[in-house]
Amino acid sequence: MIEASGLRFAYGATPIIHGVDVTSRPGRVLGLIGPNGSGKTTLLRLLHGGLSPASGEVRIDGRPLEEIDRGGLSRRVAVVVQEAGGESTMTAAEMVLLGRTARLSGFQRTSSEDVAAATRAMDRVGARHLARRDFAALSGGEKQRVLIARAIAQDADHLLLDEPTNHLDIRYQHEVLGLLRSVGRTTVVVLHDLNLAARYCDDVVLLEEGRVAGSGPVAEVLDPELLTRVYGIGVRRVDAEDGLHLLFTPLEGAA
Ligand code: ADP
Repeated sequence: MIEASGLRFAYGATPIIHGVDVTSRPGRVLGLIGPNGSGKTTLLRLLHGGLSPASGEVRIDGRPLEEIDRGGLSRRVAVVVQEAGGESTMTAAEMVLLGRTARLSGFQRTSSEDVAAATRAMDRVGARHLARRDFAALSGGEKQRVLIARAIAQDADHLLLDEPTNHLDIRYQHEVLGLLRSVGRTTVVVLHDLNLAARYCDDVVLLEEGRVAGSGPVAEVLDPELLTRVYGIGVRRVDAEDGLHLLFTPLEGAA
């Protein structure tokens, strides 16, 4: 469980996050949604300690984040971010094995068990065939799956991901998010696509200019009136048997 309360953050003199509370409940998928620049990536980085808040606190399973050492954090939280490992000269399998290394203390070496866990993780995301390929030469979608395998191999209770569906075609967008649901970890995921959030998240936090405009179960927060106000686009919602779907239309007079 990740609980954040009263988070504030500024890049230099520019305040970006203005007192945000977030709770990601055990085994559930929490989506961070909101327009471009509303602070989703910044908030995710605050939640995994990539950034420190100016005020407020993040607790992981009840313990303040700043009291958890790096090794302890790696065993609790796995992170998938966009820029990870872009310049590396590793194979995909070595990249996934890094998820195991993150769990080890300085003098421990990876064991055959670690290699087996990395292989299982690659199987799980359908990336086993990429194992010997140069990671840097993979397509965006292939990289994304390898990075998710690395996070799974890390075997942390919490999974934090920034736009994991970026670069993926529509089928893999659904596959990756379905996979994230199936691993059953406590997950926080930044998503642009509100229909993907509707389908794969249990709860969402809707950000607007660094503040929470809505928070709670998907069906409550994905309210057409609220979304129209926050995104400035006409929204129609269809509640179908397989869940809710949103249809968008530019507002009259908008460019
Ligand atoms: P989102 O993920 O919702 O698009 P971000 O958290 O990336 O939003 O950005 C929130 C705001 O912070 C934006 O106005 C962005 O320009 C600014 N910002 C993001 N990263 C930096 C940075 N490293 N330095 C200065 N400003 C930044």
